[in-house]
Amino acid sequence: MPANMDRTALLSDLAGLLPAERLITDPAELFVYEADGFTIAHARPAAVCFPISTSEVVQLMQTIARHDAQIVPRGSGTGLTGGCVAYDLGVVVSTARMNKILAIDLENRVAHVEAGVRNTALSDAVAMLPGGTAYHFSPDPSSQRASTIGGNASTNAGGIHVLKDFASSNHVLGFEIVLSSGEVLEIGARNGAYESTFDLPGLICGHEGTFGIITKLWVRLAPKATSFRTIVSIFTSTTDACNAISEVIAAGHLPSAMEMMDGRMIEIVEKTFHLGFPSTAQALILTEIDGIDDLLDGQMNQIVDISRRNGAVSVDTSRDPETRAKLWKARKGAFGAIGRISPSYCTQDACVPRSMLAKVLARVDEIGKKWGLQINNVFHAGDGNVHPIFLYDDRDEQQVQNTMLAAEEVLQYCIDCDGTLTGEHGVGVEKIHLMPYLFDGKTMRQFQRVKDAFDPDERINAGKLIPSEKIHVELIKPGRHAPQ
Ligand SMILES: Cc1cc2nc3c(=O)[nH]c(=O)nc-3n(C[C@H](O)[C@H](O)[C@H](O)COP(=O)(O)OP(=O)(O)OC[C@H]3O[C@@H](n4cnc5c(N)ncnc54)[C@H](O)[C@@H]3O)c2cc1C
Repeated sequence: MPANMDRTALLSDLAGLLPAERLITDPAELFVYEADGFTIAHARPAAVCFPISTSEVVQLMQTIARHDAQIVPRGSGTGLTGGCVAYDLGVVVSTARMNKILAIDLENRVAHVEAGVRNTALSDAVAMLPGGTAYHFSPDPSSQRASTIGGNASTNAGGIHVLKDFASSNHVLGFEIVLSSGEVLEIGARNGAYESTFDLPGLICGHEGTFGIITKLWVRLAPKATSFRTIVSIFTSTTDACNAISEVIAAGHLPSAMEMMDGRMIEIVEKTFHLGFPSTAQALILTEIDGIDDLLDGQMNQIVDISRRNGAVSVDTSRDPETRAKLWKARKGAFGAIGRISPSYCTQDACVPRSMLAKVLARVDEIGKKWGLQINNVFHAGDGNVHPIFLYDDRDEQQVQNTMLAAEEVLQYCIDCDGTLTGEHGVGVEKIHLMPYLFDGKTMRQFQRVKDAFDPDERINAGKLIPSEKIHVELIKPGRHAPQ
């Protein structure tokens, strides 16, 4: 807690701003807000606030800053890097109840929403309008039923279709954002008109709540594909599967999704859903293509040929919605199926060049053996976005430590392979200590200058994404302090 912070006075001021049902201060209720989806990082906030208007956010910003407490933005808390964990008795400001869809303009294919609108709630509302079934908000993190559009923009969330449809930054046109000073900025374009000056909305996407609190967004509505082909190929070698992925992309195809699952994951999914996968299966690739119906069979046949040429032992294809849904069942049920075999899991996230996928998977396997951990892989293979899933028991401190150490080795290896620290989940506190491993000093200082332009006094989410002197986060790994 900051030296000059008086918690009682802070809580009393917050209670003067918000009604009791939108302010949490009770320790038992605060427990729920100690973590996000990366449960290794946790800390109890001083309070959790649920504003419902921009003017309330402004007042909260000014009040919390006056008390020298950290402001920690939060959407639905589905993040996977500890980005909305409030260290140092910070105050969580959740935009989850700012969930009004303000306008849907199908003619210009844009929507104006409050930050707490859930990702699928927008597409559902669009589909209710005349002609609306043809459009959707296309970013599709697997958390999309729960995660908010403000959270998606803040983490620059991706998803299964990012290979063709790109991450959230390509679908956000403009923001209303409240800075820690209380200043309200309106940034970017509305109504589908593009701005060709500084791409400030692009800069805010991926800021992980370190610049301000997003209160409203103007987002693009994309046309939905209507014709699809789905191809599921099974391989007895991971290397063969990775080679097939590289070859499909090198041949000029741009699948809307290209997902891969390793042998351990196939085994769990098979035990759960009995889909008939052979026991020798070491890799499964699910490829989906969409576009002009008359062209799709030709493209599908080329992808089938590439799979067979690379050693696929079985290839299933489909064009009708029922069979497609069956083929997708394995992929969509994968994370849930893990619950059968492990009390806890931690999903890592990095991006590597597709040509390095086979090497990275082999190294992940070695690292798992070294630390005595099972690591399964289900990931967005088409864009090289690996998601090693570390299985551990959170009641066993040694296993938690080993998970963190193994995850660090995996991430370092991905960076050594010319990869990145995150493909879509962001940095948060989980990976912050590796930022200087990826970026040189000059780049890190430039990041800091960008942060300073929005939040010069480090009042908002300090110690996330960019290392900070102000907040020192200690995760379970002994001696590891992030940021340093
Ligand atoms: C089962 C599961 C599957 C997932 N699948 C994917 C996936 O496929 N792709 C993917 O990219 N991610 C995925 N995620 C991660 C997560 O869902 C996304 O990062 C999502 O965008 C977070 O949204 P949220 O509303 O839950 O944000 P939170 O978790 O509440 O916050 C995330 C970050 O954004 C900041 N933030 C939130 N709201 C605001 C705001 N209004 N203003 C400023 N900053 C804000 C927070 O401070 C924090 O740093 C998954 C998570 C789970 C649990």
